This record gives sequence, C-alpha cells and structure tokens, in this order.
Amino acid sequence: MNNQYTKIQETFDRTLAEQVLAAFEWRKINGRYAPTRASALTQAMELIPEGSTVSQGGSVTLDQCGIRQALQHRDDITFIDPYDPKLSREQQLMNRRKGLLADVFITGANAVTRDGILVNRDGMGNRVAALSFGPSRVIVVAGLNKIVDDIESAITRIDQVASPMNCERLDRDTPCRETLRCHDCISAERICSVTTIIERQADPNRFYVILVNDSVGF
Ligand code: SF4
Repeated sequence: MNNQYTKIQETFDRTLAEQVLAAFEWRKINGRYAPTRASALTQAMELIPEGSTVSQGGSVTLDQCGIRQALQHRDDITFIDPYDPKLSREQQLMNRRKGLLADVFITGANAVTRDGILVNRDGMGNRVAALSFGPSRVIVVAGLNKIVDDIESAITRIDQVASPMNCERLDRDTPCRETLRCHDCISAERICSVTTIIERQADPNRFYVILVNDSVGF
C-alpha cells in the first residue's frame, strides 16, 4: 500500500514540475528538472563555466544541496563569497556589491508560481538586484516545496514560512519569528524590505531554474 501512495506522490510531483517547466519556456527561463539534491548539485556545477567569477545569495537550499560547499572548493572559478565568516562585515558587504558584477550568480528562491513567475524578497536587496540585472548568468535552485499557486500565495508563503524560518536561522528579533505571521514590522532586524516579481527574461540565455524534486530550503 505504501508503495502505491509513493507512486501517487511521485506522479503528482512530476506533473507539477512539468507544468512549471513548461511555463518557464514561454517566459524565456531555462528550466531544468533535478530528481535529487545530488542531481541539482551536478547540474548547477555544469552551468558554471570554468574561469567564471561566481557569487551567491543567502540560501539554505544551496547549503542543503551541497552547492555552496562545492563553490568553495572549485579551483577553476573565482568565488566571491558574501557570507565568509572570516571576513569583516564591511568585506562581506563589499562582496555583495561585487556579486552584482559576477559572471554567474546562484541562489535559491522564496516562491515560484505554477505559471513560472519567481517571487523573492530581501532584507538588503543584493540577491533580488542580482536576479534582476547584472550577472550574465543566473542560476536559481528551488525545491518543489517553493511552488505556489499565484503571486498572492507567493507573498503569503514569504510572510508565513520563509521570513519566520529565516529570522530563526539568522537570529533576528522580529515578531514573525514568534507568531509565524507578518506584522509589517519596523524592527531594525526586518528581513524583508525589497520584493521582485520576475515574469520574463529579455536574454533567453541568462536565467536558469533547477527544480529539485524534494522539499529543500526555507
Ligand atoms: S515585515 Fe517583519 S514581521 Fe513581517 S515578515 Fe518581515 S521581518 Fe517578519
């Protein structure tokens, strides 16, 4: 019986992924399907050419897929790491700025709608800036848990799931961390100040999304 239920889940997940991948095509976003986290890692590395400068957005997904660790160990690229704990706060901020001019920017996503729109919200804005313009290649890695019905559901997901969980991760003193709801706070530690809605790409070779058949990231 369990096997029967597993098959139903697999069919649902595959159909959902196929719907989103088809929607990406129309939006000039290059969709990829990764059946496992390991496959997402392999595909992400293949999309990063030798000799590139590479930077990343803050992302639990990249950690959980082993992508951040792989970037740190690739000796054929220059990794501009905005989150290197050995760097001072000023150096980390400088690397966020440098990341906007990297050849490749890789990150996770807060939400992806069923019709292929990416919705992301940042505290500082460096990730959403790089997603919008700058790096000539962008790679987004997103688990199927990030798929929502529409833009409104995406914002709800950010307010009620992504923001509270990331506030917990980053030890931010914000009300959503306790209530799991957004209070449109004025906390100095507010995690969500800049939102982007990416509907389409002008350059069909710029933007890649790897959909991982797993629940990964916040
Ligand atoms: S505005 Fe404040 S309360 Fe709302 S999600 Fe962002 S950090 Fe949390």
